[in-house]
Amino acid sequence: MRISKLFGKTQRELPAEADTISHQLLLRAGMIRQITAGVYSYLPLAWKALRKIENIIREEMDKAGGQELMLPTLQPLELWQQTGRHGTFGQSLFTLTDRRERQLALGLGPTHEEVITELVRYNVQSYRDLPLLLYQIQTKFRDEPRPRGGLIRVREFIMKDLYSFDADEEGLDQSYNKMLQAYRNIYQRCGLPTLMVEADSGAIGGKDSHEFTLITESGEDEIIHCSNCQYTANADKAQSIKDKIDGGEPQPLAEVATPGMATIEEVSNFLKIPQNRTLKAVFYMADSKLIFVVIRGDYEVNEIKLKKALSSSELRMAAEAEVKEAGIVAGAASPVGLSGIKVVADDSITTASNLVAGANKPGTHLKNVNYPRDFKVDIITDIARARAGDGCPRCPHLQTGYFHQPETRC
Ligand SMILES: [Zn+2]
Repeated sequence: MRISKLFGKTQRELPAEADTISHQLLLRAGMIRQITAGVYSYLPLAWKALRKIENIIREEMDKAGGQELMLPTLQPLELWQQTGRHGTFGQSLFTLTDRRERQLALGLGPTHEEVITELVRYNVQSYRDLPLLLYQIQTKFRDEPRPRGGLIRVREFIMKDLYSFDADEEGLDQSYNKMLQAYRNIYQRCGLPTLMVEADSGAIGGKDSHEFTLITESGEDEIIHCSNCQYTANADKAQSIKDKIDGGEPQPLAEVATPGMATIEEVSNFLKIPQNRTLKAVFYMADSKLIFVVIRGDYEVNEIKLKKALSSSELRMAAEAEVKEAGIVAGAASPVGLSGIKVVADDSITTASNLVAGANKPGTHLKNVNYPRDFKVDIITDIARARAGDGCPRCPHLQTGYFHQPETRC
C-alpha cells in the first residue's frame, strides 16, 4: 500500500500536550489519538507495530512452554473480596453494577489471579497435571490517578499476563526462571537494552519480583545500581549500607536554643553541623494510630519499607492536628522522654553519636543525643530510601549509582 493512502495525519508541529519524546513522535507520526485521559485509539501504523510486538511475546511464551488462553474481562467482585485484593487495588479497580444489582470488577481485572485460580482448581486433579504456564494477551483497565506520557501510563492498555502453577517451591523457581529468560529474549528481539531490577511486589504480592526497565531521561522512577556486582534494585525496595559518621565519644545531653528553626535544614544551618549529625522526626498514621518515626537527618523515609516493618494495611503522613493532639511540639519533636507513642527507628540512628534532636519545647533542641542511652524505640530496622553514593549491600564496593527509569509496560 502507498504511504499516501495510509490512514492517519502526520503533524509537523510539536504537539502541545506531549512532553515526552515518545509521546511527541507517536502523535506526529499519526500513530495514536487520545479520546479521553489515558485512553488511546491505535491507528494502522501503531497497530502494525503492536501486532509485531505481540507476536514476539507470543512466540517466546510458547517456546517457554506457555499455553495461551483468554479470560473474561468482567469478573464478579466476590472473587476479589475472597482474596482481599479488592482493598489492595483500592480505587484503581474499575467496578460496576449490573441490572441484577450484582457488583462486577471491570478487569477490568488489572490482573487475573482470581479468575485463573478458579479455572485451574476446576481443571487440575493431581500434581501430575503440573506444571502449567497459562497466559493471555488482553486489554486491561486501571484507573490511574495521573495518566501521562502518551502510552507510558494509561488507563486502558494491552497486557500479556502469564500465571504458573507448580507442585512445589522448586517447580515455582524453575517456572520463574523460564520466564526471566523469555523476557530477556523478548527485549533483545525488540532491540531494547533493559536492566533487570529487583522490585517490590506491590499489590500483586509474593516473594520475588523483578522489573525490566529501560533507562531514559524522561523516567520518573529511581533505581539503585552497583557497577561492581551488578546489584540493581528499585529505590522503593533497594537496600544500602549507610556510612558511619564519627561524632566522638558520647557527651552529656544539653539543651540549645534554636529560635524559629524547625526543619532539619534550618537547624543544621543554624547550629553549623551537617545534616547527618541530626535526628529527624516524621509522623505517620498507621491503621489510625500515630507512629513516631526517627531517622538520621540526611535520610528520607521509605514508606514501603515502613509499612512492611509495621505490618500495617494503611499508612499515611499524619496531619499537623493529629501530631499536636499527641502533645508533640512540631519542629522540635523529640524521641527523648517520649511515652505512649510507638517509635519506629531507622538503623541509621546507630551510625552516628552526639546527634541533635528536638527537645519537645518550642525553639529548643537537644545536643549530644545518643541511642540507646537517651531514648528507646519499639522497632529498629532499615526504613530509609537508598541513595546514590551509599554502600552496596552485596559487595564491598563503596558506591552505588542511580538511574531514573520510566514505568515500562508492554
Ligand atoms: Zn555491589
